[in-house]
Amino acid sequence: MTTLTKDRILDELKRIAAPDGRGNIVSAGLISDIVIEGGEVTFALSADPARLKTMEQLQTVVEQAVKRLPGVSKARVVLTAERQPGRAAQPASPAPGAQPGAAPQSRAVAVPGITHLIAVASGKGGVGKSTTAINLALGLKSLGLRVAVLDADVYGPSMPKLFGLTGRPEASTADGKRMKPMARYGVEVSSIGFLVDEDTPMIWRGPMVMSALTQLLREVEWSEADVMVIDMPPGTGDAQLTLAQQTPLSGAVIVSTPQDLALIDARKGLNMFRKVNVPLLGIVENMSYFTCTKCGERHDIFGHGGAKAEAERLGVPFLGEVPLDMDVRLRSDEGRPVAATAPESQHAAIYRDIARQVWAQLEGGNLRKPAPKISFD
Ligand code: ADP
Repeated sequence: MTTLTKDRILDELKRIAAPDGRGNIVSAGLISDIVIEGGEVTFALSADPARLKTMEQLQTVVEQAVKRLPGVSKARVVLTAERQPGRAAQPASPAPGAQPGAAPQSRAVAVPGITHLIAVASGKGGVGKSTTAINLALGLKSLGLRVAVLDADVYGPSMPKLFGLTGRPEASTADGKRMKPMARYGVEVSSIGFLVDEDTPMIWRGPMVMSALTQLLREVEWSEADVMVIDMPPGTGDAQLTLAQQTPLSGAVIVSTPQDLALIDARKGLNMFRKVNVPLLGIVENMSYFTCTKCGERHDIFGHGGAKAEAERLGVPFLGEVPLDMDVRLRSDEGRPVAATAPESQHAAIYRDIARQVWAQLEGGNLRKPAPKISFD
């Protein structure tokens, strides 16, 4: 039996003509980033956004051709909009927050089986980024989606605690190189927190961060998922920028508190994603207000409405306000996130609503039939 190689796949693809008579799709340079994992093959097909219909048809033809090859159990073709020299890539339908003329995103290789990767980020620590990430993930899960969580906050991994998970992931192969994800509440999760002791201080130098994250993302046997929520490290430094660049993100959610200072930081977050042309799915205002449990009166402890006004000014969707609430914190500390363990609560409803808006942007509101994914290189 012939083994499955990139050359074998390319040979097959050379039999398919390029859409504008420029020879075949391989010689026209439309195929890139072939990844073979077991029998699963993923690669990119460059598309002209102006001819999306044709490219979608071609995508199906290409997928079928690769699927027919011996040894292929699954083929996934990601449409990427190739940037023409001298002109900014224009999305077929405007991607929210995408900025024409932004620096091109370096090639980010898809993660087989995961349709959308979304980042949850904040300009600084302590604003509730991780709390938002897990509850957004569980909100997406409650919509009937298949969801995974990657804890990319290597400086302060909080997903083990938030999920209430302890222990170490099992090795999935004899050589121990790949791991099985941990799972709870129907969501798979990977975190450096499962691999190092909480009390061991970790000093991360730049390249180490990326290699740890690559491992957590690509050396885990994820099940298929519609969305992977990535809890980013706080801030907007080099590590965050590299991560945003090298991960094939469908979009980013920015978490901010209402305080001005946090908003200045949040703006840095927005700009970072714009720089690498990742669509901004919107801003969440966390610790937005406090409703007194005794008198029912609403208190705007950190001021209120700053994030909403700022989102409008910046032309980024405002996804919602999450109030400061004792129960949210208590449940988080106990590994019982509110979106999973108190689905009837006001907070769970807010996170579901945020999840709905995020998914609507990712898939045009169609919960059942995923639309083809367009990413911009
Ligand atoms: P970050 O990831 O930005 O550092 P965390 O999600 O870890 O922030 O949140 C910091 C602290 O604030 C945690 O103790 C968390 O339980 C608490 N917290 C976050 N959001 C809320 C909220 N809406 N109400 C009450 N406590 C919250």
